[in-house]
Amino acid sequence: MSHSLLNVVVLGSGCAGNTAAIYTARANLQPLVFEGHEPGGQLSITTEVENFPGFPEGIQGPALIENMKQQAQRFGATYRHGRVVHADLSRRPFALELEGGEKVHTRTLIVATGASARWLGLPNEQKLIGRGVSSCATCDGFFFRGKKIMVIGGGDSAMEEANFLSRFGSEVALVHRSEAFRASKIMLERAQANPKIVFITNTIVEDISDPEKGHVNSVRLRNVKTHQVYDREVDGFFVAIGHIPNTKPFGGQLDLDADGYIISHGGARTNVSGVFHAGDVQDRIYRQAITAAGAGCMAAIEAERFLEAEGH
Ligand code: NDP
Repeated sequence: MSHSLLNVVVLGSGCAGNTAAIYTARANLQPLVFEGHEPGGQLSITTEVENFPGFPEGIQGPALIENMKQQAQRFGATYRHGRVVHADLSRRPFALELEGGEKVHTRTLIVATGASARWLGLPNEQKLIGRGVSSCATCDGFFFRGKKIMVIGGGDSAMEEANFLSRFGSEVALVHRSEAFRASKIMLERAQANPKIVFITNTIVEDISDPEKGHVNSVRLRNVKTHQVYDREVDGFFVAIGHIPNTKPFGGQLDLDADGYIISHGGARTNVSGVFHAGDVQDRIYRQAITAAGAGCMAAIEAERFLEAEGH
């Protein structure tokens, strides 16, 4: 399938991408959205969202994202599975290559590819994904009914995952490398008040059990203050230590910081004229659904003005 020249391609279908799609679709630009490797982005794997304005009773993450997608489609946005593996931003129109080799050309590009789960980098971690190791409580919590669960991290994600997993596990051990928590006070206090959650602070994970045994069954921990090393029985091992921006196809073309986040050139602009950023791929500070949505709106308005100035 080949496309003629497009006005707007949006990469990513999280809050940022969907909002960019709503706005550019309503501007009659017929955006094409590539949903990426995690359609719906981070909201699609979360549960209750309590802080998105307009939902006094809260709303489930997947429902919120589906509503946004339908809203964009109503105004003429097209959604496609797949992701871009290579982008040539050196000339216009921009050429994007998809998995499978197909190419599309577009006058403007909105990069809303978000950020993916960060892993600890332990030797056995990747081998045990799906066999006790996970980065998504919502996806995998159900498998650990009545089992021993461990969550790694000290931010809001770790608190949220620990609380959620306490519905399933016989106990949830929350392991954090220091005793200072990045989590918001309300989420930390909720986890601390949960009788099923045990806090293990100043502690790092040295290893996860031997993958030859087929499944996670224990974890080696080290207290960084006392240097005590010990094993703890665990069935489910959930890593919640933040995210890495999805900017691989743009290396060497878009200005990225040392961690791979897009560097903004004001508003939603990147260093390449006609390429705009939206959401967590650029934002390492706020990282909220509502700020991502706002950024998607900004990128759409900039793309619209850019096209208008070029006479399209
Ligand atoms: P954060 O960056 O906030 O926290 C990451 C945590 O992981 C920190 O405690 C950090 O420890 C720890 N960590 C990082 N790398 C390692 C490592 N290699 N080994 C051990 N520990 C490590 O990420 P989150 O994903 O928790 O949150 C991201 C954003 O999303 C935040 O703005 C948060 O508020 C928001 N969020 C909001 C939610 C809600 O409101 N419902 C739910 C989930 C997230 P250290 O502090 O020592 O660096």
